This record gives sequence, structure tokens and C-alpha cells, in this order.
Amino acid sequence: MGELLEWIYPSGLYCLRCNKPIDRRQPYSLCPDCVKQINWANSGVCPRCGRLLDRYAGKEFCHDCAAGEKPFLAGAVCTGYGRVEREWLHSFKYRNQAWLKEPLGQLLAERIAAEKWPLNCVVPVPLHPSRQRSRSYNQAALLSAVVARRLELPHFPDALLRIKKTEAMSRLSAVERRSCLTGAFGINPLRGTCLQHKAVLLIDDIYTTGSTMSECTKVLLGCGASAVYVAAFAAAADIRSESI
Ligand SMILES: [Zn+2]
Ligand SMILES: [Zn+2]
Repeated sequence: MGELLEWIYPSGLYCLRCNKPIDRRQPYSLCPDCVKQINWANSGVCPRCGRLLDRYAGKEFCHDCAAGEKPFLAGAVCTGYGRVEREWLHSFKYRNQAWLKEPLGQLLAERIAAEKWPLNCVVPVPLHPSRQRSRSYNQAALLSAVVARRLELPHFPDALLRIKKTEAMSRLSAVERRSCLTGAFGINPLRGTCLQHKAVLLIDDIYTTGSTMSECTKVLLGCGASAVYVAAFAAAADIRSESI
């Protein structure tokens, strides 16, 4: 039966990004063109947050991390966040292509496993309930579920709560983001004890300035987590955040 289903609904025959037919032996079901176009964050990354460094700046840390300490211990991301990655993640986030959680989550889990962090559990960055209703799912929680399953860690999708609805932040500067996120997150009182003395892996789909991850990290540490590591599928380019 398995073989028959595979014949009727072949897996891995189409590129995950551009839908071109591919040789199913391609890793992660991406065609060679897409593999080349995607800006993988494998080397030349910020040792604190994991984003690709501005190679012309010649700095050890990205602009955001150089501007101030982050409360999380370390971060990792799979890719940059240019036109190609934005289009790809846009389908996952807004076009109801929830199935993309599996391949994207697998890539992210393998990226995290390479860091060998001593992790105890996985928590996603939450969406405000009204936004989750309009979008039908929280893409960060879909990713974190796949990551937790693949890394064989407990998953607490409802540990963090978004208690304040914030504006879409893509046009705000880092300073504006920080002030608008203050008090935006809280801990679910039913979950507080699960996180005590635990090293938490915090997952989001996109890392921009690190303000969201930092605010969530502070809440997790405040309720007794021993350390927080962060990971996102993609991270915005390393540029001076005030100009974003
Ligand atoms: Zn492709
Ligand atoms: Zn950084």
C-alpha cells in the first residue's frame, strides 16, 4: 500500500520553492537552482544571533548584537531573508501552505542539531490570539512542533502568551520595536513550572532585529528558565537597524 500511495502521490518530485520537477534524490526536495539562490547561513555568521554578517563591515558581531547584549545565550538561522527567502516564507505564512512546516522544520532542526546546545524543551514565539484567528495558524508554532519532534524534546506551544497586540513592526526602527514590545509577552501560569531550571529553545520563523526574541527570552528567564537559545528559519540582513 505504501508503494502504491507513493506512486499516486509521489513525494519529493517537485521543488519545494519553485515547483519544478526534480530528481527525488535531491536533499530537502529543492532543485539545484533554488539551492544556489537561497542564501544559506552556514558560514560568516554572527556568533551571538547566527545571522549572516555584513561581509564588508569586517566586524565579529552583527550591528544589532554589537549595539547591546542579548539576553539569550546563542542563536542559529538557516538562511538570509532576501527576495527569494521572503517569497518562500510568505507562502508558508500567508497562503495557507502549512505543509511547508515539515521541510522547513527539518532544515531548521538539522541546523540547530549542528550547534550541539544542551537543550531541555522547545517553545515558539506566540501570535496574538486575534492574529492567529485571522491567519488560522501560528507559523512559529508549526515549525517548533517539527523541531521538537525531530530533536526529541518536549514542546510547550502555549508556554508564552502574547498579551498585547502590537502593530506590524516591519517599518519600525529597533528602538520603536523595543518600546512597542515591552510587556507584550507573558508566561502561561499553567506552564511556568515546566520551564524552571530548563534550557529553552525559542523558535520563530523570521529574526529581524532580535527585539521579539529578546523580549520573550526575558519572560522565560523571569519564570525560572536556566538559559534560552533562539533559532529562526531566516534572519534579516545585517544592516544598521535604525535604517530598517
Ligand atoms: Zn526550485
Ligand atoms: Zn548578531
